[in-house]
Amino acid sequence: MSYPETVNLPFNRASLQGEFQPLPPDTPDNGDPGFFLLIQGGDLVLFNENDQPVLPWGTLPLWVEPHSTVMIGLWQGKPLRAGRVARTTVLPSPFTTEPFNAYSERLNDRLLTLGGIARNLLSWDHESAHCPRCGEGMERHPGSWGKRCLPCGMERFPPTYPCAIVLVRRGAEFLLGRKAIWPQGRYSLIAGFLDPGESLEECAVREVREETGVEITNLRYVGSQSWPFPSQIMAGFVADYAGGEVNVADDELEDARWFTADSPPLLPSKRSIARWIIDRYALKVTTQASV
Ligand SMILES: [Zn+2]
Repeated sequence: MSYPETVNLPFNRASLQGEFQPLPPDTPDNGDPGFFLLIQGGDLVLFNENDQPVLPWGTLPLWVEPHSTVMIGLWQGKPLRAGRVARTTVLPSPFTTEPFNAYSERLNDRLLTLGGIARNLLSWDHESAHCPRCGEGMERHPGSWGKRCLPCGMERFPPTYPCAIVLVRRGAEFLLGRKAIWPQGRYSLIAGFLDPGESLEECAVREVREETGVEITNLRYVGSQSWPFPSQIMAGFVADYAGGEVNVADDELEDARWFTADSPPLLPSKRSIARWIIDRYALKVTTQASV
């Protein structure tokens, strides 16, 4: 089958065009020089090369604690290791940090995607250190990122939290909402987390109803995007308006309203599936996922 073009969006592995080869975390590390995905607080640590931020490369920098990194795979055929750097560590020039988010213009799509993988796995490693049932230390499940507790037999694997994200159309109009914490004037698609026992389609219908009071029909899946803030998978849908008046009743949104392609509001990042869906299905702009 052919896949939706969203597979090429940043944060999805396909955007790395096969240059990343994942390896299980128990792969022996012979210490060869390689690349480093280092996270400091909410930032990605990079190396300034001709004023361009690139992945640090070579041997482990002296200011990174020895044995604190984990090999997550090969990048361009070289070992790729991920690790955290203490917030108090002062980075020597030309190392630098960049805020890790979809709006960071100095991070290209590849750095965003690799950073997302590292962030996800490092968070998982930290949060799964102890068994949630008996409190004993967890150890790695051989050959995977899973963990197991020898005393009680509990097994856990890195979680991903599914969300549905929906564009609702009514003729030439489309429905967008905004959260109070977003920059002034920015609107985006209606989205929310899956409830227990729900299909993604049911989640899409419920979220639109709860957040805007609008009923939808003719729901179509259009693609998905990994979203490492912290560990979500966004399932994108397009739907048609079926009834109801816009009514922002719950606490999720500050406002929701109908827009047209002639006068769109400030929109989300081009790196997001939200923007991809808006461009493709509301503004009718053909976009290429940048890689
Ligand atoms: Zn246990």
